[in-house]
Amino acid sequence: MISFTDTIAALATPIGRGAIGVIRLSGNDAQAVAAKVCAGLDKVRDRVIARVSLTDSGGAAFDDALACVMRAPKSYTGQTVVEIYAHGSPAILRHTLDQLYKMGARPAEAGEFTRRALLNGKLDLMQAEAVGDLIGADTPVSARNALGHLRGAISRQAAEIWETVTAVMAHVAAEVDYPEDDIPNLSLDSIISSLDKSAKILQKLVDSYERGRYIKEGVSVAIAGPPNAGKSSLFNALLGYDRAIVTEIAGTTRDSLEGSVIIGGMQVILHDTAGLRDTADIIEAEGVRRSKEIMENAQLVLYVIDGSATLPRSASADAFGRQATCPVALPQNPQNLLVVNKADLLCRGDYQSHADAIHVSALTGQGLDKLTDEIKARIYIPDSDETFVTNARHAYAMGRALEGITSARQALLDGIPPDVSLGELEIALDALGELTGKRVNEAVLEQIFEKFCVGK
Ligand code: GDP
Repeated sequence: MISFTDTIAALATPIGRGAIGVIRLSGNDAQAVAAKVCAGLDKVRDRVIARVSLTDSGGAAFDDALACVMRAPKSYTGQTVVEIYAHGSPAILRHTLDQLYKMGARPAEAGEFTRRALLNGKLDLMQAEAVGDLIGADTPVSARNALGHLRGAISRQAAEIWETVTAVMAHVAAEVDYPEDDIPNLSLDSIISSLDKSAKILQKLVDSYERGRYIKEGVSVAIAGPPNAGKSSLFNALLGYDRAIVTEIAGTTRDSLEGSVIIGGMQVILHDTAGLRDTADIIEAEGVRRSKEIMENAQLVLYVIDGSATLPRSASADAFGRQATCPVALPQNPQNLLVVNKADLLCRGDYQSHADAIHVSALTGQGLDKLTDEIKARIYIPDSDETFVTNARHAYAMGRALEGITSARQALLDGIPPDVSLGELEIALDALGELTGKRVNEAVLEQIFEKFCVGK
């Protein structure tokens, strides 16, 4: 078991050369340890950035830097934190860290600064995880959502529900323990209505996970259609670089490719799939099977057809070109888009009639802005003031808390002995405690923090 009170030090900026590199320390003796390497730091006032000279154990200065001391408890970790802003040479930063380790600091574990913040009550567990999500954010929308978590949008609701559940438990337990006493205040009606209120909040949070995970993981968009329609060309054009091989030979893309692009602040994962056609080639047939699977799992399918090609005689293409040129059943999602490609060539009259179709040229870029707008309109972009659950662990614990509260409510209404409702409410408390970190086991904490960067 590691100590969380000794002084730790780590690089907080990425490894490599940069204008500036930041080294962070946290611990009761952080200022004293850092002062042995940063000449002048012992005199620095709290929260004032000062100029210091980085000096090794032999007394030789090797950098002029800035440093700031944030004394306990008013710091990120709740302990005294020192930040050193040195010139960003990997040699300077390595040497500074080596000197700090010599003077009594030890290397920080992954996420240890945040873990100390959790231990010192600066953050709850969901907020600590939000710090990791902020650093991992790939889009403005995921950053905004993680910030909502960090600022306590969900933690406050969890704390409120915790209060309600403990108050109800105290009341029910008092009735069990002192049945002869006249216990005032809470009527059954008011207990039920406060449990209902908590259940409603939890249900809303659990439901938000459905969309919340797209914020974190991205929205899947499949580019599908017959061979040679220009799917790979469109995939490359949307990505803005040549990721897929483009040839006039049908069946080139046999396995699907993935690439991501940001549309409307959301991460969109584009899948270039194998052309859909009946084929005797085993490998190509496997590609078609996979394409189908990807389409089924995608939130949106762009069904691409070659507008310069003749529509098969039998085809009576509907708004989504379903079955027009496609041997496999397409997902019946009204959101899906029919994309008529090769608009730079003479378009066959057959395709002009598609009112809903977007006409583009992957070759010249014509119509791509309109296509991007249509994708944007179809992927869900959350309102800026809403915070969504994006973490499976949270959604699962919230679901368990909801179950416990709902069962307890029913048991109380049915007049079942109060032990039952107390047991169910205890389950709800356990789940809420796992969320906030009040009741969480060491293994879960290890798992959460090992994914963090070392200097965070
Ligand atoms: P895929 O099999 O559907 O992935 O199609 P590709 O992207 O490999 O393209 C098939 C052929 O059509 C290639 O020769 C491309 O250069 C050509 N092509 C793709 N998009 C366009 C387009 O917008 N206009 C024209 N004129 N040719 C295109």
